[in-house]
Amino acid sequence: MSIQFNKAEFILSAASPEQFLRDGRKQIAFAGRSNVGKSSVINRLLNRKNLARVGATPGKTTQINYFLIDGRIYLVDLPGYGYAKVSKSERDRWGRLMESYFQTDGLPDLGVLIVDARHKPTADDVTMCDFFRAGGCPMIVVANKLDKLKKSEIEHNLALIRETLDLDEEETLVPFSAEKGDGKERLLGLLQAFCE
Ligand code: GDP
Repeated sequence: MSIQFNKAEFILSAASPEQFLRDGRKQIAFAGRSNVGKSSVINRLLNRKNLARVGATPGKTTQINYFLIDGRIYLVDLPGYGYAKVSKSERDRWGRLMESYFQTDGLPDLGVLIVDARHKPTADDVTMCDFFRAGGCPMIVVANKLDKLKKSEIEHNLALIRETLDLDEEETLVPFSAEKGDGKERLLGLLQAFCE
């Protein structure tokens, strides 16, 4: 039976490599700039109000949160990046944590990179993209906050995101609104297909 993303259970927060989970279950890692709406996208996907804490102080926590979905796969919530007020030491800690995560063999199996549909992806978004590619894992890019765009802006903005991140044909770009629900079924379908 395909995975429904109905049941989500918080498992642990990892702040160092010894704590990374490696138990053979597939791992789907969610990444995005602080405030891009990563928690909101995860909550929308799982029909939860507050699973990944919405509106937590941006960039405050440098840890990787693991949720077990339907008892079968891990949703891995990577720490947000790019928040201007974060100290250099916190930023360095983020870099080290990401390096060790992506250098651990076989982590993750699929990356979901969330960017802001309104803007050209930032240099940090490009770096995150490179982390996924260097880890050799397929990637889905979610362009969130679609509801904040005028209809006439959508096509241009999506093209700019594709171009800036240098997405190839296999890297799907999903227009999304965590607020309104647009894109949810498409993203869910892609994740389900990946989990088969
Ligand atoms: P995170 O830091 O990436 O986890 O971001 P949050 O999920 O906490 O969201 C940051 C802010 O953006 C909150 O005020 C959300 O309500 C808002 N937000 C998130 N997704 C959307 C969206 O699709 N549309 C709109 N209009 N606002 C959104």
